[in-house]
Amino acid sequence: MSRRTVLVLNTGSSSLKYQLVDPATGEALATGLVERIGEPTGAFKHTHDGETVTSDDAVPDHGAALAKVIATCAEVGPNLAEAGIIAVGHRVVQGGKYFDSATLVDEAVLAKIEELIPLGPLHNPAAVTGLNVARELLPDVPHVVVFDTAFFQGLPDAAATYALDREVAEKYEIRRYGAHGTSHQYVSEQVTQMMGRDVKQIVLHLGNGASASAVVNGHAVDTSMGLTPLEGLVMGTRTGDIDPAAVFHLARVAGMSVEEIDTLFNKKSGLKGLAGDNDMRGVRERADSGDPVARAALDVYVHRLKKYVGAYAAIMGGLDAITFTAGIGENNGALRAEVCEGLEFLGVRIDAERNDSRGGPIQISTDDSAVTVYVIPTNEELEIARQAAALIG
Ligand code: AMP
Repeated sequence: MSRRTVLVLNTGSSSLKYQLVDPATGEALATGLVERIGEPTGAFKHTHDGETVTSDDAVPDHGAALAKVIATCAEVGPNLAEAGIIAVGHRVVQGGKYFDSATLVDEAVLAKIEELIPLGPLHNPAAVTGLNVARELLPDVPHVVVFDTAFFQGLPDAAATYALDREVAEKYEIRRYGAHGTSHQYVSEQVTQMMGRDVKQIVLHLGNGASASAVVNGHAVDTSMGLTPLEGLVMGTRTGDIDPAAVFHLARVAGMSVEEIDTLFNKKSGLKGLAGDNDMRGVRERADSGDPVARAALDVYVHRLKKYVGAYAAIMGGLDAITFTAGIGENNGALRAEVCEGLEFLGVRIDAERNDSRGGPIQISTDDSAVTVYVIPTNEELEIARQAAALIG
């Protein structure tokens, strides 16, 4: 049978990340990234068949970025005309209350994503640009949008609702939408498969952005990100949970504008705000060599995570599995050990040797641990490709 592939696009404000994926085998036939779009020098990297080509030529806009990807595929492979592309799968962060699954793009869907920009101001504009450009340059294949919020669309009302005046909340569509849903769905499905039964599980997606989810029998029952990806865990540059009164205080006492506070909370806080570095590797190294500022930042990071694990175990009325994923979750064994330390009362027992090993999927709990703890590499591109392929049929 001839190959069927999905071109997965993740468009950022100045970047375009792509992968040509075979959803049946999970194989990535090409991966690449165009960065610094619109800047005097670009940064481009394309990998196919173990060979990587790079370039720092200027890339004026997203249209030029995708054209460059298509031209590079023609030059060094894979040949897109022969790759059997059945769909282009687009990652979109905010689907609001309108999208609970992968959706074929048409004018109405595009208009809805644009309409949702106020709820996803940092991400949805780029997705719209990516969709417009890709539909123009690849007009003969169906385009499918996969929303970061979709997996959490079915959250119980009690988890999705803020205790805010109902009229205000409804008028302005203020509720908890969650994010990183594609990753939480992919990882939680892996866990269900590995355990071979329905489970109560917590997924900790710890990357530069970070989020936790509670999933019962395949359905998300809570997640740490809220109206926007700002809520919840301590992240690379985001505060996570903070008393909203801090906003009033900064406005009244420090005279800061809404934009300044937005930037402070989203871009200058988290590990960066606490330790001056949003990269966990650097913070960990400093903490290990005795830097008290870095150690204090890690303490806040770990404390928040433990709080969510305990809360989610309580919400679910039990716990069968905890899974660590994304850059930090997959690579930082010391952090995993710190999060699990003291959770023996929940039935969590970590095997230090397993926790030290690299790669995954791997079980890092002991065989007699009541809660199975895993490290599972996330693969959002594969999940998007699978969902797009399933929709196309
Ligand atoms: P992501 O957003 O999933 O790419 O994750 C980025 C985060 O993962 C950054 O904070 C990195 O410092 C962290 N990370 C990546 N590799 C490692 C590693 N080997 N050890 C510790 N942290 C890592």
